Amino acid sequence: MKNKIVLIGLMAASALSFSQDKGLVANADSPHTKLHSVNLQDVQWTDGFWKEQFDIGVENTLPYMWDLYHNDSITHAYANFKIAAGLEKGKHSGPSFHDGDFYKILEGMAAAYAVTQDPELDKEMDTAIAMFAKAQRKDGYINTPVLIEERWGTLGPEELQKQLGFEKYNMGHLMTAACVHYRATGKTNFLEVAKGVADFLYDFYKKASPELARNAICPSHYMGIVEMYRTVKDPRYLELANNLIDIRGTTDDGTDDNQDRVPFREQTTAMGHAVRANYLYAGIADLYAETGEDKLLENLKSIWEDVVYRKMYITGACGALYDGVSPDGTVYDPSIVQKIHQAYGRPYQLPNATAHNETCANIGNVLWNWRMLQITGDAKYADIVELALYNSVLSGVSLGGKEFCYNNPLNVSEDLPFQQRWGSKREGYIALSNCCAPNVTRTLTEIGNYAYNLSNEGLYVNLFGSNDLKTVTPNGDKLEIEQKTNYPWDGKIVLKIVKAPKSEYAINLRIPGWSQGAQISINDKQMHFSYNLGYATVAKKWKKGDVIELNLPMPVELMQANPLVEETKNQVAVKRGPIVYCLESDDLSEKAEINSIVLDIYSELDLKDIVINNRNVKGITCKGFVENDNWESTLYRPILKEKQEVNLTLVPYYTWGNRNQEEMTVWLPY
Ligand SMILES: [Zn+2]
Repeated sequence: MKNKIVLIGLMAASALSFSQDKGLVANADSPHTKLHSVNLQDVQWTDGFWKEQFDIGVENTLPYMWDLYHNDSITHAYANFKIAAGLEKGKHSGPSFHDGDFYKILEGMAAAYAVTQDPELDKEMDTAIAMFAKAQRKDGYINTPVLIEERWGTLGPEELQKQLGFEKYNMGHLMTAACVHYRATGKTNFLEVAKGVADFLYDFYKKASPELARNAICPSHYMGIVEMYRTVKDPRYLELANNLIDIRGTTDDGTDDNQDRVPFREQTTAMGHAVRANYLYAGIADLYAETGEDKLLENLKSIWEDVVYRKMYITGACGALYDGVSPDGTVYDPSIVQKIHQAYGRPYQLPNATAHNETCANIGNVLWNWRMLQITGDAKYADIVELALYNSVLSGVSLGGKEFCYNNPLNVSEDLPFQQRWGSKREGYIALSNCCAPNVTRTLTEIGNYAYNLSNEGLYVNLFGSNDLKTVTPNGDKLEIEQKTNYPWDGKIVLKIVKAPKSEYAINLRIPGWSQGAQISINDKQMHFSYNLGYATVAKKWKKGDVIELNLPMPVELMQANPLVEETKNQVAVKRGPIVYCLESDDLSEKAEINSIVLDIYSELDLKDIVINNRNVKGITCKGFVENDNWESTLYRPILKEKQEVNLTLVPYYTWGNRNQEEMTVWLPY
């Protein structure tokens, strides 16, 4: 039975007030969520890892992407809006998802503006928003391929049809970006455009056939429309979000690739295109936070277990396969078997060199898990947010912030005798697949918002990094805390209370799932603490200057995979805290192929300060062996007894490919 929403206490559709609820997800009033966001403005990185990443995002990545998307000869993204608005005559150029990617850059600028208050950013955003408003049709529709066709008649019906696949993706990112812009600036210019879009979608879905309505590739609009509901409190938007989920899987031509062969309420495992899947799951988590429909959460939890226990890489990456067939979509009949692409594979099917692992899917994993964390208050979801951020999201962008990866494989070998569809080298512009670059752009400026949550029970510290938190509790009390740490290179985290509520107040510190033997002291006095869903709770009447110190022992760990993962049998990966390491050919003491290296797991694993592209990171030194790497005309051979000892230096996985872009591997035989 499908759930129909009963809307109680309808609020006026125009109820726009610039409230305190100004996070990426404005869920302070969401009835079925335990934790809610702090404001975008509340967290300022002050030093260390995330400060460096934020600065690179703001100083390098954002201006680079802004210029790129204004470059008519490379991306043509802004030009499409000008042509759609009638300011120039011309044709649409670039992929049909360009609009959505341009909105992601605006979202990143808005999140950066919330923290920096840079008037230049504000001005640039206003210019772009005015152009969106000019291009928007009177009924609220905005999607430049179609608007340009209507105005100038340049595409033809067949080409136009192809452009429709991403229109909801484009509109979804517009709505999300507009909500973030409103929360960052207090201005309603972008939000007015987004209201037009949301109203259009509401009317469209009232009339559209299920076949038309299900047309939704990479469904960012579920997150977008729920966020619009949260922002303007128009109950029609929540009704729309629920209808969008109802309608999925009700047509005969649904596919596992698009997660609509069967209705969502019958899905218990992750399937199909991993970006579409993770965006869908994140959107459904948003819907659950508003409606509390048990079946939605039950299925999300089941799918989560399928991903985290069977289908996710050690880097938090998702989407093992470039191409494949749906494992369960059809009875085996080669003529009707369903194709999947950029997709989750079967359980434990996790190839390394041919892993697809699109950066957008890994960001989708963060978006989904962050929402699961807020719904449940369970730190196991924050563990995945952290794992993906430090590894498979950051690997999507170069250390300098101007080159990007579409795929994030765990092994790169120059001997692989075939060309994969997308190269494994970072590029400034990934023609036809540049969705990931603007996605990582917005993410770099938004990580501060993931660092903390609030609830009626206190503060939740999710991510560690030096920052100043200045926020207000649900009771209206001021809360100010200075966090100082050299995390993720060191497990000591110090929180100094600057302002806290007068009565007893709980501070909940995430104890990562990988950590053992965590210790907490208050004002140098060690204390016992209680665990609650992976958070250690310390509660007292705080005084200004009180110091909480959390120590997370951070030994180097040798990790093995479930033996059902065939590709990693008898191999280990090296991990320390949240950071997964890899071996790059740049660090081999002599010329050897990456796949000929064997790790000596009994050798000392020592930390070593190294600099890669002006960034200080901790490497790990150890010993290994190199085997004869001449496999010319050889598929099998007797095992070799002779091996030559070599010194190895492992580097954080996210830094790979920043030097000579040669070979790399995460898993090493031992
Ligand atoms: Zn992408």
